[in-house]
Amino acid sequence: MQNRQVIVIGGGMVGALTALLLAKQGDSIHLVEKTPCIHPLENEAFDLRVSAFSAQSKKLLELAGVWDLLPKNRLCAYQRLQTWEKGSQKLCFDSKEIGIDALGYLAENRWIQAVLWQALKTLNNVTFYDNRQVASIHNSDSGVSVNLDNNQQIQADLLIACDGANSALRQLLNIGITAWDYRQKCLLINIKTDSAQQNITWQEFRETGPCAFLPLAENNASLVWYHSPQKINHLKSLSNQQLKQVIVDEFPPLPFDFSVEDKGAFPLTRRHAQSYFKGASVLLGDAAHTINPLAGQGVNLGFKDVECLVDLLQNSSDLPIPVLLKRYECKRKPANLLMQSAMDLFYKGSKCELDSVRLLRKGILHLAQNSGVVKNKVMKYAMGL
Ligand SMILES: Cc1cc2nc3c(=O)[nH]c(=O)nc-3n(C[C@H](O)[C@H](O)[C@H](O)COP(=O)(O)OP(=O)(O)OC[C@H]3O[C@@H](n4cnc5c(N)ncnc54)[C@H](O)[C@@H]3O)c2cc1C
Repeated sequence: MQNRQVIVIGGGMVGALTALLLAKQGDSIHLVEKTPCIHPLENEAFDLRVSAFSAQSKKLLELAGVWDLLPKNRLCAYQRLQTWEKGSQKLCFDSKEIGIDALGYLAENRWIQAVLWQALKTLNNVTFYDNRQVASIHNSDSGVSVNLDNNQQIQADLLIACDGANSALRQLLNIGITAWDYRQKCLLINIKTDSAQQNITWQEFRETGPCAFLPLAENNASLVWYHSPQKINHLKSLSNQQLKQVIVDEFPPLPFDFSVEDKGAFPLTRRHAQSYFKGASVLLGDAAHTINPLAGQGVNLGFKDVECLVDLLQNSSDLPIPVLLKRYECKRKPANLLMQSAMDLFYKGSKCELDSVRLLRKGILHLAQNSGVVKNKVMKYAMGL
């Protein structure tokens, strides 16, 4: 068992999972979260922020002992995935083809966060500082000391920043980013359907951006509509009834009747930290990288960061912290960059005017659909297997 003092900044999905796994290894955890602790209710309406969790992410949540704490009426397994370019052949994946129960699971971010917090609250080596932020930091190779906004001071061997895409810690540590704006937004729309829970997720690529369907538990689902900021702002300004009519007229056909329950717009920005660590402080999850959400890989990449760092801390604990963090960076940075770039190839390929780029993309999809080996490899890679 380890007995390091570790500060985790940000108790979102990535930060809370890191805190829980390290606490279970015996480290003393100081978890600093800027918002008050959340307690979602099982009978509440579905939240707009949902994520698709890969089989690998599910395994990690099982290892942390929280998967079974998720209420069944907030979790949806999907067995099939279809993707196509408008007017072209569909690429279809089915979990049966590789002999597994589900390709992935959809759940609200806030429920994943809530069950992680529930488990953290049972441990006496975790100290919570919720509703708090870091005011200043002193960071060196040999340790970290932070002052919170209530003047409280915490000292530790290691600081793990999981404070999301606009990470204040990344800025306090003076770590730069490369970033670009896709000049697109996406509208998340929660709907209630008049049919039972779906087991398929799909995405149609269009020149204006993708349109996606994500099934949620029972007769709920989420639609994701990418378009220009002007169009998305217009759609967002409509009443739910008016928006339903536009979905019927312009979105890919939905095979059931539905009502629009909620909607919200998100900008699309790609960011990548130029370095993943400095001294004894390290970045994980969206604090280190954000990705185009079109393939639902954001939190799955964040969970792979967690798995990698926790494994290094457990199995290479004899190494000085900066050496260990360098190893983490060498493993995770190229992998995250590869996934960011692959998503951009698909995203830009579908919007590109150049016939050669569109043909390349169609060729990849055609090859994947018609070669069982390639298709199974793609499927397993996306699932993190
Ligand atoms: C529209 C959209 C759809 C998406 N869909 C998917 C999907 O289907 N699948 C998928 O895998 N990913 C998806 N993602 C990405 C996914 O939501 C993120 O990758 C994931 O939430 C990142 O988790 P995180 O814990 O790193 O950051 P966050 O979820 O942003 O959590 C950061 C936490 O830190 C706290 N915090 C912030 N600042 C401070 C501070 N200064 N001090 C203390 N605490 C602080 C916040 O309150 C929060 O609790 C999507 C993203 C978008 C925008």
